[in-house]
Amino acid sequence: MSQAEDIESVDEDGVIESVSGPVVTATDLDARMNDVVYVGDEGLMGEVIEIEGNLTTIQVYEETSGVSPGEPVQNTGEPLSVDLGPGMMDSIYDGVQRPLDVLEDKMGTAFLDRGVDAPGIDLEKKWEFEPTVEEGDTVEPGDAVGVVEETVTIDHKVMVPPDYEGGEVTSIEHGEFTVEETVAELSSGEEIQMHQEWPVREARPAGDKETPTEPLVTGQRVQDGLFPLAKGGTAAIPGPFGSGKTVTQQQLAKWSDADIVVYIGCGERGNEMTEVIEDFPELPDPQTGNPLMARTCLIANTSNMPVAARESCIYTGITIAEYYRDMGYDVALMADSTSRWAEAMREISSRLEEMPGEEGYPAYLAASLSEFYERAGKFQLINGGEGSISVVGAVSPPGGDFSEPVTQNTLRIVKTFWALDADLAERRHFPSINWNESYSLYKDQLDPWWESNVADDWAAVRQWAVDVLDEEDELQEIVQLVGKDALPEDQQLTMEVARYIREAWLQQNALHDVDTYCEPEKTYRMLGAIKTFNDEAFEALEAGVPVEEIQDVDAAPRLNRMGTAEEWGEFIDEIENDLEDQLRALY
Ligand code: ADP
Repeated sequence: MSQAEDIESVDEDGVIESVSGPVVTATDLDARMNDVVYVGDEGLMGEVIEIEGNLTTIQVYEETSGVSPGEPVQNTGEPLSVDLGPGMMDSIYDGVQRPLDVLEDKMGTAFLDRGVDAPGIDLEKKWEFEPTVEEGDTVEPGDAVGVVEETVTIDHKVMVPPDYEGGEVTSIEHGEFTVEETVAELSSGEEIQMHQEWPVREARPAGDKETPTEPLVTGQRVQDGLFPLAKGGTAAIPGPFGSGKTVTQQQLAKWSDADIVVYIGCGERGNEMTEVIEDFPELPDPQTGNPLMARTCLIANTSNMPVAARESCIYTGITIAEYYRDMGYDVALMADSTSRWAEAMREISSRLEEMPGEEGYPAYLAASLSEFYERAGKFQLINGGEGSISVVGAVSPPGGDFSEPVTQNTLRIVKTFWALDADLAERRHFPSINWNESYSLYKDQLDPWWESNVADDWAAVRQWAVDVLDEEDELQEIVQLVGKDALPEDQQLTMEVARYIREAWLQQNALHDVDTYCEPEKTYRMLGAIKTFNDEAFEALEAGVPVEEIQDVDAAPRLNRMGTAEEWGEFIDEIENDLEDQLRALY
């Protein structure tokens, strides 16, 4: 956020009329909707959210205790914006893009003091600007004029802002500059710096959305294997407390093959976010070996931070994501959790005394959620290129009840649904993604990618696994009534195969060095080995071998160790050979 504007220069002050938590009303303020204002003697940052006659309603991004009627309100005349430029990677921001480390240095504490302002990107740091155009070239909005090595991993394209006219390049620099210095001039008279501002509530312009055809490879078997997400797709992770939402989101942030990760910790407990903030900077990026933070931007708005800043953090995050999308990157945005965001909307709405909708949420809850997810997609860019934003939102329904409004409204929008299950989590089956309730509407459009990049029978093998799990689900009811031994032998064997699919394949330990990430080839080979067991076992059964003997072959339990095997190729070859030998030896 750049509040370079000198507050003193705005001479038309309004006056605070009332203060109700994060909502303040003021009279005599000359303002437009969404203008950023400074509230009270301390100059707390806020945003205009309603204007009625002479009365302006403001949501304040900081704690308002002690702020009193009669104190002044000053308008900046600017909408709530983010500052976009090099330096955002490897940064940790609060909900209005104030860098937490810079503020920490200023305040000497991890908590932000009120009225403290800091620009979203370092205005003094010099970056090496490498031009990619020459004088005389013509550039249009969205085109790059140069590039900056933002981090070891990310080349940051310096683009003509989307609201510029563009034109012929009349001068272009080369060398070290701050983000505020001009690096290119155009015949239109426009000057280009390495940063640009963009109002957070407005989607950055892009061309048409395309049908996504590439998966966001997550390295998580249940997700890649059964419920894949597309690059440019939307997904929700609903789950009760303790079911693994945060671990799942963090796994995606660490392992998915996105170029850029924007991770929004929204309203969760402070200690969980602290874990992320402490963990992430230590982690290596599996794609490059560089620090993971070199391609990550964290936005932290914990439950002890003011509620209005929680409302805005989602918009700050998605705008940053759009900016990197505009450079042609595949961006993955995780929001943990959208329920806390919706609760922030509910609180502000109730302070505004708006007519409440279902369970007290504002009537525009569905619209706000869909506006947010709508900003995901695989886009044609205004410069002719392509870029994508995949959005994954965690939902934390109270008591794990998926019928509540946030889960239900999210379900109508997203196309991938990873339903976390308290029972599975309790049984320590992780990730606790329930295979009966979850779905992905991208499966069909992504199959050609898996088939040409991993294995040409990818979809067929997956379907086989789904069928076995379905059959197990049906048999389970009978087993509960009469016990497993009462089943015919072939059904007992199906139950055994299903158990391996669940335990050896769907379960994956995020805390194990090797198992934490599973490349698509390994996901495929592991399921293939279980299918080998299935095929060989049924052959044996048909040849008259009793099911107990089949289950007892000693190669079978080794299927459970495939996930943690480092040399998995050899390990799986060996198991498959042994299964064949041992099962065939029985008849
Ligand atoms: P939530 O965010 O839904 O409250 P967490 O993500 O904090 O839940 O997960 C709770 C606990 O479950 C974790 O501390 C971890 O022990 C365990 N857990 C969750 N997912 C996994 C996983 N994929 N592998 C291993 N353990 C997991």
